[in-house]
Amino acid sequence: MVDRYWTAFFVVFAYLVGVLDASAGDADPLYRACVEQCEKTGCVGEKCFPHCKFSSDGASLDGPWYMQEPLYLRWKQWDCQSDCCYHCMLDREQEKAALGHGPVKYHGKWPFKRVYGIQEPVSVALSALHLAMHFHGWLSFFILLYYKLPRKPDKKLYYDYTGLWHIYGLLSMNSCFWSAVFHSRDVDLTEKLDYSSAVALLGYSLILAILRSFDVRDEAARVMVAAPLIAFITTHILYLNNYKLDYGWNMKVCVVIGVAQLLIWAIWAGVTRHPSRWKLWVVVVGGGLAMLLEIYDFPPYQGFVDAHAFWDATTIPLTYILWSFIKDDAEFRTCNLLKKVK
Ligand SMILES: [Zn+2]
Repeated sequence: MVDRYWTAFFVVFAYLVGVLDASAGDADPLYRACVEQCEKTGCVGEKCFPHCKFSSDGASLDGPWYMQEPLYLRWKQWDCQSDCCYHCMLDREQEKAALGHGPVKYHGKWPFKRVYGIQEPVSVALSALHLAMHFHGWLSFFILLYYKLPRKPDKKLYYDYTGLWHIYGLLSMNSCFWSAVFHSRDVDLTEKLDYSSAVALLGYSLILAILRSFDVRDEAARVMVAAPLIAFITTHILYLNNYKLDYGWNMKVCVVIGVAQLLIWAIWAGVTRHPSRWKLWVVVVGGGLAMLLEIYDFPPYQGFVDAHAFWDATTIPLTYILWSFIKDDAEFRTCNLLKKVK
């Protein structure tokens, strides 16, 4: 019953987030006028940007590809636009703060202060730490399995989820890497790479949750579970990349997949006699609370630490506990199978 309330709660919140995501900042006429002016003159107040000089004499973008501007010039143009947006945003926010108004979102994102050109330095550092945590967990899992635990007479491992957890480790590190890149520079390409790798990881984690909690060891059954989910996730990623990067829809997909796997782990942790089930409980409860942070989404304090940065921070200890559970699981199952053999 409680679980059903949670699901309803998450779905309602996801809708709210979708509705509230239309950014107030970039609808502001003063901000728009500032950006327009800046793209013509290359300056905001006293500050002028070298990137903008190129775009003023740029060739027409309507011609065939060989007549268009070279790629580096287009990069320059993107840089000009991004510099203009950034400095107009800072100016607007300063003016509004003087009048006692709080920050608003611009183009779907909170106003962050850049440090050495990095957009969200705190989140970049935390994503890098998150990656390091996954690498540490995966490496110690690897060492445990291949150097410490006994093997079958034919040298094969007893633990039959090894390959699945290896893939999980790789997908996790890939996702952390792209999220660090996206937090440091938010352009179309980095955004798509970040969203795609996050969705791939989330979908794969659901498959893993089902396979491990129902203890699916038969190859054919594993394929039966994985195939439809892989098909759905692949279609969703292709849709986001090639058709429309629909934040509201993506949020719903992610919340449903995320809640589904939290429920699966929670129910399994409740019924199993696994000696390390408490670690799963910590990950499930922690993961649920972290999800609330992501959904609550408060603005950055001093332009640096927002709700998402807190979410990035919570993933670090949770990752440590999860890998610790995975290692316990490998040890526990190996011992059990050895007992049966004897
Ligand atoms: Zn992040």
